[in-house]
Formats: sequence, C-alpha cells, structure tokens
Amino acid sequence: MPLAREAVELLVQAARAWYFEGNQHGLRDREWMALRFLGRANRFSRTPSALAGFIGATRATASQIVKTLESKSFLVRKPSQEDKRSVVLHVTTQGEKWLSQHDPINHVVNAVRGLETDDRIQLRDSLREVLNHLDAAHQRLDASVCRDCMFLAERSPSTGKGRATAEFMCRLYRAPVSLEETELLCTSFERTRDRPKIEEHLDRARVASQS
Ligand code: SF4
Repeated sequence: MPLAREAVELLVQAARAWYFEGNQHGLRDREWMALRFLGRANRFSRTPSALAGFIGATRATASQIVKTLESKSFLVRKPSQEDKRSVVLHVTTQGEKWLSQHDPINHVVNAVRGLETDDRIQLRDSLREVLNHLDAAHQRLDASVCRDCMFLAERSPSTGKGRATAEFMCRLYRAPVSLEETELLCTSFERTRDRPKIEEHLDRARVASQS
C-alpha cells in the first residue's frame, strides 16, 4: 500500500476516538468538539459565531450545543470586555474537569505523549502541513495558535530572558495579547509566511516540559 494512503488510513482509524454514535459521558461527539474548542480558544474566538464556523455547523445548531453545555454547567456566557453587545463563552471549572477526565480524545493524547519529544514535534508539524494544504485547497482555515499568526506583534521587546518577558499586540483586533494567550486557538488566525514566531529551541523546550 502506498505510504501516503497507509498514513491517512491510520488517521481515519484514530478518528474513531472522536467521531462516534450516541454519547460518551453525557455528550455527543459535536458537543465534545465544541467544549474542547472553547476550552482552548482565545477571547476573540469564544463566540457563538466562531464556534459555529469551527465545528462546521449552522448558527442555530451551535446555539443549541451552547444551550446543552450551559444546562450541564460546563459553560457560562459573559459580556465581552471589548464589545458589551457581544457575549463571550467561558468554560467553567466543571467543564474543564469534564474535559480533563472524560474527553474521548484523551486516550489518543496519552498515546502521543508517550512518543519522544522530536517525534511529537514532527507529528504536530506534519499534521499542520497537511491541514495547511487542505485549508489552501478549500480557501479556509478553521483555527490555529496565535503565536504563529501574521497579526501578532511584539509590543515591547523582551528583556534578555527571551519570550517570557515580551508583551504582545494583535494588530487585527488592536488589543493586547498575553504570553499565555499566544498559545490559544484563534479563528481569525492568518498564517505568517516570512518569520516563525517561536524559536525552534524554545518550542522544543516547551514540548519537552509537557511530558
Ligand atoms: S494575532 Fe492573530 S491569532 Fe492572535 S488574536 Fe490576533 S488575529 Fe487572532
């Protein structure tokens, strides 16, 4: 079997962990997808419309999913600090606990965590490259991490301790972005072509520390 097909068929087998009939621990697969996204998204992307785009659903379906997650106390709505007419969805402590204990992808995450650091980085980068090709073909990108976005700028230079002391600014939303937020997902992400936002050795240290 050609290597490319074999690799994709393995991915399809792995996908059985997150696409399933019925529900697991009280949530259907799309509800898990929504909770997982909202647990990882930045404040600009935790909105009903961004959620609908990410999970590939209509606004009505996304709204129903939000109601289900609210009814289980996994989610609360709060007014946006940037725009008081909008709401931002927040995953509650109960929601975070449910994700940590019962998310159906946890088995896959644990299996990947067992790989060597270099293998994890290579797997992540290869999957991202594949998704980039798919996104380019369909002229869309669901979401990616802020640190690699072309709109991210350093507001004040780091003070010798590297990235840890730097302050960031989103040039699209014209708003400050904290170091922690640079690791979150954003649906307004635009890929930078000219400069990696994170140095390779720092990325490796970060991935190794997550073992
Ligand atoms: S810099 Fe890019 S990824 Fe980060 S918040 Fe702004 S648009 Fe989103």
